[in-house]
Amino acid sequence: MKKNYNVINLGNLNADLANRSRIELGDKIGLTGCEVSVNYIAPGQYIPFLHSHELNEEVYIILKGNGIFIVDGEKFPVQEGSVVRVAPSGHRSIGSEREELVYLCIQAQSDSLTQATWNDGIRQGGEQSDWRLG
Ligand code: ZN
Repeated sequence: MKKNYNVINLGNLNADLANRSRIELGDKIGLTGCEVSVNYIAPGQYIPFLHSHELNEEVYIILKGNGIFIVDGEKFPVQEGSVVRVAPSGHRSIGSEREELVYLCIQAQSDSLTQATWNDGIRQGGEQSDWRLG
């Protein structure tokens, strides 16, 4: 029977990511409805181009550091805790400032979501004591 989950470990989100700069999780964990990437930008660096998408909206979630985001010529600061949603046609880029920047980018087809969270979740059985490891 096929497992209903996949697990990986990305290692240290600063040191290990610094050597790779971007890890796309879709193939690694079998995503089918969205793509998630974990991204690292060294201090003072930036993505040297703008891009948009045909179908996908993106959500950028800043996990560490601070930087500058640009969408359609509008620049604004982002830092740990910032969450930015960009529509497919938005021309976007991101760069770090004084600190390295670590962020997640989640992309999914715009207008494809028909339900979420409480409207999609189905409560199942199981006792909390069953959840402990070992
Ligand atoms: Zn993109």
